[in-house]
Amino acid sequence: MNSVYASLGTTIFETMSRLAAEKGAVNLGQGFPEEDGPLDILEAAAKATLEGPNQYPPSRGLPALRQAVAAHYREHQNIDLDWQSEITITSGATEAIAAALLAFIEPGDEVILFEPMYDAYLPMVRRAGGVPSIVRLTPPHWRLQRETLTAAFNEKTRLVVINTPLNPSASVMSREELAMLAELCRAHNAIVVSDEVWEHVLFDDERHVSMLELLRDRTLKIGSAGKMFSLTGWKVGFACGAPALMDVFAKAHQFLTFTTPPNLQRAVAYALSKERSYFDAMRTGFQRSRDRLVSALEGEGFALLPAKGAYFVSIDLPASGIAMSDEAFAKHAIEHGVATIPVSAFYANPGAPALVRLCFAKRDETLDRGAEALIRAKRAL
Ligand code: GLN
Repeated sequence: MNSVYASLGTTIFETMSRLAAEKGAVNLGQGFPEEDGPLDILEAAAKATLEGPNQYPPSRGLPALRQAVAAHYREHQNIDLDWQSEITITSGATEAIAAALLAFIEPGDEVILFEPMYDAYLPMVRRAGGVPSIVRLTPPHWRLQRETLTAAFNEKTRLVVINTPLNPSASVMSREELAMLAELCRAHNAIVVSDEVWEHVLFDDERHVSMLELLRDRTLKIGSAGKMFSLTGWKVGFACGAPALMDVFAKAHQFLTFTTPPNLQRAVAYALSKERSYFDAMRTGFQRSRDRLVSALEGEGFALLPAKGAYFVSIDLPASGIAMSDEAFAKHAIEHGVATIPVSAFYANPGAPALVRLCFAKRDETLDRGAEALIRAKRAL
């Protein structure tokens, strides 16, 4: 057996969702919206399924979808992409990350990762033969620091994986941080795989800055229709970057999944043409949900970290007067009727801060029941 996978457990997201179902607990764990995205997009998928064709689309994706992705990023992020040579449609962002790692690194190449990190990155880097070099970001602001970042680069560095907005910390990388990283990548001849799946899920006055804007020739930007349209199970991702990267990326993709369901591609092409007001309303809706959950918990002595992007907000356990590990508190909370995600699951090294992540992309009633269960759990300590 391959030792990377043989030594892994089931993901924390599956584990917590299963426990929530078993115990009938409110699920504020795995990050997915409780309500599916817009009906007209679902109808577009149904129509595309019935009308067909449902046979293999081109490996890089349907032209209509690649053109829609190019138009979307031109309008929303002022990025010019050539749809034929600079975009590939993938079966979700996770597939795009896997294809990028397989395409861009040779065994022994060093890959810089930032901790906390999405749980899929590290095993995929290792399986691709990469040697991880992990830079720790720290709460409450999770900023990239010039000194630690510079120290992480050396002559073996080939690739850097970033995620902004960052899951689970809900922080957003600034233009200055990204520019600093771009400068180091240029100096060390390194590539960035930029996981930007939360690019439309931003709050307050945060603005998304794409790494593609700052490091055009060396960035593979990854987007996700699931996150843009609250359809996380669809698994339609977009990989965008310069032809020299895309040509090799597309070869890795063709032997992973080859392509992505055509009906969903057509529905996403339709969805991407939505007016700005759709994206604004999505943001406002999630922000309202964030504020509802945060105020219910803060009123009861919970301390929460700032949440600027993605569907998540974290409880700072020590600052909330809870002297337990995140895993122990997550287990305790499940017994009181709410599933959460212990943030140490996003760390490879010991010494993670004691935080539990809550997903607030839920109906008001679910958020209220989740908050009540957390309050009960805190009182029972
Ligand atoms: N992105 C989701 C989260 O952070 C999980 C997706 C999954 O379960 N694979 O909760």
